[in-house]
Amino acid sequence: MTEDPRSIVRRQSVPHSVSRPVVTPIYPSVVYRSTDADELDSQYEGRASGYTYAREGHPNASVLAEKIDWLEGMDPAWGKGTVMGSGMGAISAMLLGILQAGDHIVAGDQLYGRSLRLMTKDLPRLGYEITLADPTDAGAIAAAIRPETRMILVEVVSNPTLRVADMEGIARVAREHDVLLVVDNTFTTPRAFRPFEHGADIVIHSITKLLAGHSDVTLGWAAGRTPELNTAIYDAAVTWGMTGSPFDCWLAERGLHTFELRYDRAQANATALAEALVSTQGVASVLYPTRPDHPDHNRAKALLGDQGANMVSFRLDGGRETVNQFLHAAEHIAFAPTLGDIGTTLSHPASSSHRGLTEAGRLALGITEGFIRTSVGCEDPDQLIGEITKAIAKAV
Ligand SMILES: *Cc1c(COP(=O)(O)O)cnc(C)c1O
Repeated sequence: MTEDPRSIVRRQSVPHSVSRPVVTPIYPSVVYRSTDADELDSQYEGRASGYTYAREGHPNASVLAEKIDWLEGMDPAWGKGTVMGSGMGAISAMLLGILQAGDHIVAGDQLYGRSLRLMTKDLPRLGYEITLADPTDAGAIAAAIRPETRMILVEVVSNPTLRVADMEGIARVAREHDVLLVVDNTFTTPRAFRPFEHGADIVIHSITKLLAGHSDVTLGWAAGRTPELNTAIYDAAVTWGMTGSPFDCWLAERGLHTFELRYDRAQANATALAEALVSTQGVASVLYPTRPDHPDHNRAKALLGDQGANMVSFRLDGGRETVNQFLHAAEHIAFAPTLGDIGTTLSHPASSSHRGLTEAGRLALGITEGFIRTSVGCEDPDQLIGEITKAIAKAV
């Protein structure tokens, strides 16, 4: 009797096929097998490319990172971006990979809420020093620089008041003081703004938002403009365990294929919604970066051109009661604290992202009780604008 080499516990290869799948397969494998020790040598020594262990890399992460690298205009000579398990993971790996205890960071004072918490609560515990400064004023950023400053971290458009940072001025400050400029490009996306073309050394994304676009995956990406920066970010992500899972990367790649279509549609909807809200009874003010009545309109034009992106904020006349009536009346639009979903979502900063501030602190930023932030999606514009303006009419 000949021995049967098969067994249900044996790891089989997939059947040989001369044709290949059109869609990227999902590679859940944690580990990759090699032919022999010499092959492993050539892989570790960079003479052959391949994978070994999923935390260190897998095809789904590579495919996703390559697409975002390309969208952000990375030169292949700089190395590759790294995909992390979340946007916060991307920021954390970047900081942990590059900075030492004692280094000083100048950070925008209107960053994403968790980033602000990282700056004010967690990093100081680890020996990093932080100064927050207003990124719409490059002079304020410059005034915060110290001899130990290694990094400036800003977002281009702030949440939820949509103020536009003085990116040209900040890039000049970074160059003059020889500090790294890090830009969280989540709100603007590479469709509106490509930070590497404006002096950024490192770019960060929460892929979770517009890039993936369907609120079904949490991932992040970080990349720098030198191989040293990218190696440092990658090594921190792998060592601290921050890399993303194959299935999440696969979902994000699927979402990314329609990113530009979704973005353009959402932006056109946002522009039309802002226009409609301006003449809606009960709306005290409307914020949209490319509108002529926006406080940073000229800077938005210079930096973003016509790309105002998909976020529109507005202030309702009235307080909590009016807001709640509006949210009830707008029953088909999700009241949910995220952004960049294919469907429109509404958020109320005073009770969510900015609830930690005092009322005076919120008012100093222009966040009234009637302040609503809209992440505009890809609905039919007439339907969307009709629903929102009718809900406002019911509430005020
Ligand atoms: C959501 C967000 C983050 C954090 O991303 P997660 O994927 O939720 O961890 C960081 N920065 C900005 C601007 C964001 O909107």
